[in-house]
Amino acid sequence: MDTQTTAPTGISAEEWEARIDLAACYRLVDLHGWSDLLGTHISARVPGEPDNFLLNPYGNLWDEMCASDLIKVDMDGNIRSETNRFINPAGFTIHSAILKQRPDVNCAIHTHTEAGTAVATQKDGLLPLTQHALHVMAHTGYADYGGIETDPGERDRISAAINDHNVLMLRNHGLVTAGASVGEAFVWMYRAERACRMQLSLQQSGAEVAPIDEAVIEKTMALNQHLNSEKGHRTIGKHEWPALKRKLDRVNPGYQN
Ligand SMILES: [Zn+2]
Repeated sequence: MDTQTTAPTGISAEEWEARIDLAACYRLVDLHGWSDLLGTHISARVPGEPDNFLLNPYGNLWDEMCASDLIKVDMDGNIRSETNRFINPAGFTIHSAILKQRPDVNCAIHTHTEAGTAVATQKDGLLPLTQHALHVMAHTGYADYGGIETDPGERDRISAAINDHNVLMLRNHGLVTAGASVGEAFVWMYRAERACRMQLSLQQSGAEVAPIDEAVIEKTMALNQHLNSEKGHRTIGKHEWPALKRKLDRVNPGYQN
């Protein structure tokens, strides 16, 4: 099935492709159970326009998001699309903070899942209990809760906290992941969400935990940092993303419109 659509007049082929990937990401996040009705947001930088990015219009459920629905906005919050719809101001604050701070990042995903929020709210955050956790911990930062992020001053706090990480735990609030591609940001969210669920599952079971040796924790985190670097073994999300889009084409097509 050829699902690719042609860019409408006034939208470059590159922007249209980014819109298709971003709309797919909204639907895939929902498909995995990570959406929060109309809350939270995912952004993608417009290729060739480093100061512009795409966000969701307020009012769409995530499983109905289409490429043409997305709104282009600049780093000052000016709407650059022909639209009478609006974006979530807190979403603008979070995403502009990350995309401005990190030229290497082209997509950021924000969620409020039970597991992600619960672990972000724990004093010690993500604990080195599982192999999944060690993978994520090697790339995770924390931002203290400062209320709903509608104050542009909040951008500095979020920018400092994301630093060079791919996962940001917003204390008492939720998760953010960042990647060079939509696929990379998605895979980081998949990994972070899984690690948080495993931690909660262990804690809720009440069973005694087999601790990982401190030296093994350090060695494994260092190895993860290397594997996920440019010198590492593969680009995160490169192989997962086309497969995820094929799955979406089977179960919820139409995001390309
Ligand atoms: Zn939020």
